Parts: sequence; C-alpha cells; structure tokens
Amino acid sequence: MAYQTINPYTNEVVKTYPNATDQELEQALTTGHALYQDFKKQAIRERGEILHAVAKNIRSHADELARACTIDMGKLLTEAQGEVELCAMIADYFADHGAEMLAPVPLETIATGTAEVHHHALGVLMMVEPWNFPYYQIMRVFAPNFIVGNPMILKHASNTPTSAQMMADVIEEAGAPHGSLINLFLSYDQVEKAIADPRVQGVALTGSERGGSSVAQAAGKHLKKSTMELGGMDPFLVLADANMEDVADIAWRVRLYNTGQVCTSSKRFIVMDSVYDTFVEKLVAAFSKVKPGDPLDPQTTLAPMNSKSAKEKLQAQVDEAIAHGAKVVYGNEAIDLPGQFFMPTILTEITKDNPAYSTEFFGPVAHIYKVHSEAEAIALANDCMYGLGGSVFCGDPDHGVEVAAQIETGMVFVNNFMVSLPELPFGGVKNSGYGREMSKLGQMAFVNEQLIVKADKPNLANPAGGLVALQKID
Ligand code: NAP
Repeated sequence: MAYQTINPYTNEVVKTYPNATDQELEQALTTGHALYQDFKKQAIRERGEILHAVAKNIRSHADELARACTIDMGKLLTEAQGEVELCAMIADYFADHGAEMLAPVPLETIATGTAEVHHHALGVLMMVEPWNFPYYQIMRVFAPNFIVGNPMILKHASNTPTSAQMMADVIEEAGAPHGSLINLFLSYDQVEKAIADPRVQGVALTGSERGGSSVAQAAGKHLKKSTMELGGMDPFLVLADANMEDVADIAWRVRLYNTGQVCTSSKRFIVMDSVYDTFVEKLVAAFSKVKPGDPLDPQTTLAPMNSKSAKEKLQAQVDEAIAHGAKVVYGNEAIDLPGQFFMPTILTEITKDNPAYSTEFFGPVAHIYKVHSEAEAIALANDCMYGLGGSVFCGDPDHGVEVAAQIETGMVFVNNFMVSLPELPFGGVKNSGYGREMSKLGQMAFVNEQLIVKADKPNLANPAGGLVALQKID
C-alpha cells in the first residue's frame, strides 16, 4: 500500500511517502511508553497549556493546513478552513475542561472510609483514521487523550499522508513532547503488531465497517479497549407540518457538504406523502445550482470526490440501484472535468430488495423515500443496520424530540442539521460502531477508572462492603 497525495482535481501525484519500517514502529512504541511514564508525573494543567498552544499554532498555520487538505482529498477550501478552525476549538475545549472532567469522583458507600474514582492514563493508543476529515478525525482523539496523558501513534488513510504529517508537525511544534502523537505510514500488519504490543493499551478507529471489523478483531484478540466510529445511513425525516423553507435550505447542504463524503450525511430522506412532491422539487432545484470546479477557488460549490476509486465505487452503486428499479430523478450524468467529479444525483423508488436500501453511498447521492404515516417513517428509519445520526423536521419541536427518541441511532437533531462540537458526544450504535468521541464521554474513553478507598484504620467489626467477610480469630 502506497501513501500518496494524488490531487483529485488534477489527478497529479503530488507526493509519495515511504512506508514506515518495523524499527520506526518499535522506536515510536518505546518513545510513547517513556512519555506515558513522564506524563504520570506532570500536572494535567501543564498539558492544558500545551493544548492551548496547539490550538494557537493550528490557527497560525490555518491557510497552509487548509490548502494541504484540499490538495490531499479534494474538499472545498472553505470547508477545509472550517475543519481547521474546528480542530482549534476542540483543542481549546479540552484544554479548558479536561482537568475538571478528570477530577476524582466521590462515591457514597457503606465501606469503611471514603471512596473515590480517580481517572488515570492507560498507556499508548493506536489511532486509525480516515481521509474524509483529515484533521478533525485526528483532533477528536488527540485532544482528550493528550489531556489524560495517553501518547498516541497515528495510522492515517493512505490518501491523506500530507495532512496527517502536517497536523503531527503542528502539534509538536506547539510544544507537545515528542511521542505525544507520532504519525507513521504503517501497513495493516504493522497496525496489528502495534495493537498486540503490551505497551499499547487502547485502539481508536474511524472508518468503514470493513476496516473497523478487522481492527476491532485485533483489539479483541489482544484484549485492548477500543472505540469504533464507523459508517452511517442517517435518516432525515420530514413530517407533514415541517417548515419546508427550512427543510429546503438544509437538505441539499447536508447531502452535498464534503461532496457527500460524511459519515453523518443525511443519506436517506424519509418524507411524508403530503410534502413529498414539494421536497423533491426543492432538492432538485438546489442540486442543479451547484458549480463544479477547482476546490481551491472560492466560487466552486461542488468539489471532486476524494479519489478515482471512490468515484468508481459510487458509480457502480448507482448503476446497481438503477438495475434494481431505482428511478433517477436528477443527476447521474458525466461532468466534463478531468477531476474525480460526481454529479449530485437523486434516486427514488428504492425498494427493500434493492441493494441501495441497505448500502452506504459515500458521495453526493440522495435517496428519497415516500411514507404515509409517522410510524412508517420511524420504522423505515430504523430498518437499517447502521445507527449513527439523524434529523427530524416537524412543526412542534417537542414532538420532534418524541420522534427522535424512537430512532435507533447515537445522535438525532430536531429541526436542524447535525453539528459536531467538542461538548457534544459523537458516536453510534449497531454497525455504526461503539464508544463515543468528544464531550465528557469521549474524555473518558481511554482512562483507568481506578477506585481508591481510604480508611484511617481497618474496621474489623464492620467488614460490610468488602468482597469477603473477614473472619475474626481470637
Ligand atoms: P476505511 O477503508 O475503513 O479506512 C479508514 C482507515 O482505516 C484508513 O486509515 C485505512 O487505511 C484504515 N484501515 C482499513 N482497514 C484496515 C485494517 N484492516 N487494518 C488497519 N487499518 C485499516 O474507511 P474509508 O472507506 O476510507 O472511510 C469512509 C468510511 O468511514 C465510511 O463508511 C464513513 O461512514 C466512515 N466514517 C465514520 C465516521 C464516524 O465518526 N462514525 C467518520 C468518518 C467516516 P488505508 O487508507 O491505508 O486503507
């Protein structure tokens, strides 16, 4: 596997990186483990200060980071700029709140003495990340775990090596000690080797079910804690009393943002019959307005997909959907540009036996379903092996919350699009994975929740609360 930046707008091979050697992996493990020991002696406050410096350094390198990301995987420069700023926000958030979230938690107990849960680092983490948000995916894991004191080894996607190395460099340049985040161009075998190593104590992966399943298998085999952030087919429910102006304004954006290559893109629009025709008409109108072109040009509103293979895979999925009876309401035509462009496409009449019904389309293709009742909308939303996010649009937001609570996903937004912020937990259920990133839940993903019970002296008269009732021998 070659780590290469191939600009998906020009198809030019910009840079090829050499694969990591086993010696480099061993060196990273040794460095990370030594740093884990050092971090134990350091106050969390000091790492908080470094993390603020990381945020500052990200902001001062914002332009070059954004450009590198656009050249690596093709996203609009404006979207890359937003991603870079979000990374700085995440770093600042965990710098400000990490120590407080990790403070000992007192427990009420009948055991003799006082009981507390303390939160300690676990050790080196193996981080495996995808190309679709090359920086944000790193920062979601890096910021909370740096505060905890877990050093990290990063294996990023093979098509975003420049972004991976730039973020690692920006973090180290800001003052994070060497070993806090070491980016290595690892093979899959080397990732497994790292997971097997006793110095590695946790594995965080964001990616596909296929990648997640192999890496989770390795983590399970070697008894390492893991979090898995995998794919999604998020439903977007439009109920009869929804504000259709809001819906129209948001629906196209949530499908086309990042050229549709987002785990939490709304991929299935589930629309009540009374507003279905209006919805389709407005989505077609919005899709037809986007302008393909150079993603570095601020006038461009449709970027290329990240790679030739991603585009070919999406085209094969659309062809298969049509062969199984889906109707093309808009799109599915070639775009006359050399880059990896895919015309925004709308498919309807997808029946349950169509592979499209149960396959994630990772690109600018919307599936629209017509339903005749709220119950049918919820049942269709839940008839899915994924459970990542979702949106509900309806006239009464309180009723929207009642509907949201019946949707089997990890995150639902009512009358708004899905946003990712450091204070909000991010993650899914079913085949979308397990565990949460960001927020206090993400902060706690890789900590030793250690119970400490402190007594002034043993109380043999009252052993209640212990595992074993002590026998008194006179
Ligand atoms: P992918 O193929 O699983 O790749 C993701 C990362 O895993 C890459 O670094 C990849 O390396 C690595 N990888 C894959 N198989 C591996 C293995 N057996 N051992 C070690 N590393 C392995 O995912 P993708 O298709 O590029 O990314 C898109 C998917 O990610 C979509 O399904 C999307 O929904 C999901 N995603 C989920 C979230 C979330 O938070 N839930 C966020 C973004 C994306 P290589 O590049 O070298 O193959």
